[in-house]
Amino acid sequence: RAKQTGKGVACFFDADMDQAVRARRQMENDLRHAVARRQLFLEYQPLVDVRDNRTIGYEALLRWRHPDRGLVGPNVFVPIAEESGSIIQIGEWVLEEACSEAVRWNEPLPVSVNISPVQFLLPNLFDRIAGILQRTGLEPRRLELEITEAVLMHNREDVLAMLVRLRLLGVRIVMDDFGTGHSSLSNLQTFPFDKLKIDCSFTAALDRDPAAQAIIRAIIALGHSLNLPVVTEGVETERQKQIIINEGCLQIQGFLSGRPGLAPSAAGALSPANGTLLRAEA
Ligand code: C2E
Ligand code: MG
Ligand code: MG
Ligand code: MG
Repeated sequence: RAKQTGKGVACFFDADMDQAVRARRQMENDLRHAVARRQLFLEYQPLVDVRDNRTIGYEALLRWRHPDRGLVGPNVFVPIAEESGSIIQIGEWVLEEACSEAVRWNEPLPVSVNISPVQFLLPNLFDRIAGILQRTGLEPRRLELEITEAVLMHNREDVLAMLVRLRLLGVRIVMDDFGTGHSSLSNLQTFPFDKLKIDCSFTAALDRDPAAQAIIRAIIALGHSLNLPVVTEGVETERQKQIIINEGCLQIQGFLSGRPGLAPSAAGALSPANGTLLRAEA
């Protein structure tokens, strides 16, 4: 399509750029309607206690079934929704959906929900969460909000005040992806967390990089000395599991113990005997 002139390359480049911009704008626009068109859904991944392999909670993970693009993962569309603001409406849907799902479980396990920094900085977040808990009837102690270090970079006083209010309500706060952001150890002193999650990049690096094990060891020791339970994410192999058990971590989340899957309340998904998720493989 580009003309065979000196300007051709530039024209071609512009056309590509134009297309990329248009595709992105289309996605932004589609995301604005995704909730109303019922294209979003949640999968649930178990957190497991390594001592007895029992499921001790689930993390809700957002998926988008796009009519043309098929299944789109949150790493692709959440950043776009954050930039365009639709994450606010989407995040509210996620909270409401996850809480109404959790009240249907036959065991009162906690449900974890990821909260975007954009969503977290809304002044009325507290009222929205309190309202959702009231409407759905979920006990506040069963809701865990996962935030990343990115949240802690803005308005630290406001963030701290919000975390304190949420905890007084009974909601738990989890530090997600610990060690990957602009972390400062003083964050753990300043902000009242209930749990630390070690990012899956450290777990993956266990296979090739001895430093990863040293970092995991240090995070586990740090968490435990602050009386915080520590979860290792992204555990895919028996070997990784053994290493993190040897380092003293008691909770894991990863493909080895369970992939994200069907809502636990879906028929037959949650076996009442041991709470492990049984799911049909895709
Ligand atoms: P995250 O909060 O760290 O969630 C864990 C991610 O690790 C999930 O990716 C999960 O599927 C993946 N994972 C779990 N076990 C394994 C494993 O053994 N190996 C590997 N390679 N990966 C594993 P997913 O579902 O693609 O989500 C990616 C990120 O998108 C999440 O990271 C979270 O930050 C964000 N996200 C997901 N749902 C929501 C949501 O409802 N709202 C917001 N704001 N962000 C969300
Ligand atoms: Mg998470
Ligand atoms: Mg997260
Ligand atoms: Mg994480």
